[in-house]
Amino acid sequence: MPQGGPPPDDSIQPPPELLEAWLCHPEIVKLGDPVLRQVARPITLATQEIQDLIARMTVIMRAAHGLGLAAPQVGVSLRLFIYDAGDKKGLRVLINPRIVSARGEQTDPPEGCLSIPGLQGVVTRANQIRVKGYDARLKPVTINATELEARVIQHEIDHLDGILFFDRADPETLVWAIGAEDDDDEANPALKE
Ligand SMILES: [Zn+2]
Repeated sequence: MPQGGPPPDDSIQPPPELLEAWLCHPEIVKLGDPVLRQVARPITLATQEIQDLIARMTVIMRAAHGLGLAAPQVGVSLRLFIYDAGDKKGLRVLINPRIVSARGEQTDPPEGCLSIPGLQGVVTRANQIRVKGYDARLKPVTINATELEARVIQHEIDHLDGILFFDRADPETLVWAIGAEDDDDEANPALKE
């Protein structure tokens, strides 16, 4: 990708070395599928279908070594995401989330996306956020998150609004990380969300 050019659009193609990574984890919707650009619908009932969706997404996220996964990334246009920022809180589910306050700024580490394997770039995000939403049983929850957890939540909420990380990334930092197909975190240090 030419450095310093215009921001990429949804027609960008991965380099040949990454085609294999794009075919990996086919249950994850990849860039170019219109569902990634839709504004997802709110969830109104904690049905068995929603529980099944959460269980399916958890398996998919773990298999892909992701930190977060939003329902549109598995082709379901609903306002739900799961994440596990690697702290003691473990796996969390958030339904119909909204950021009620945001403070500070963070730029590290670079972001990547399970729907755009190999692409990474620097995205400036709020460093501290308060999020209100609902858990898997539609009980209200408030989450205060900082740093990595706050970054992951903001990335996933963007997915629910049809926004992808490269829309917000500094275009000069966007780069294809060859080696991402190995699921090797050292070859591709960017977050997988
Ligand atoms: Zn993503």
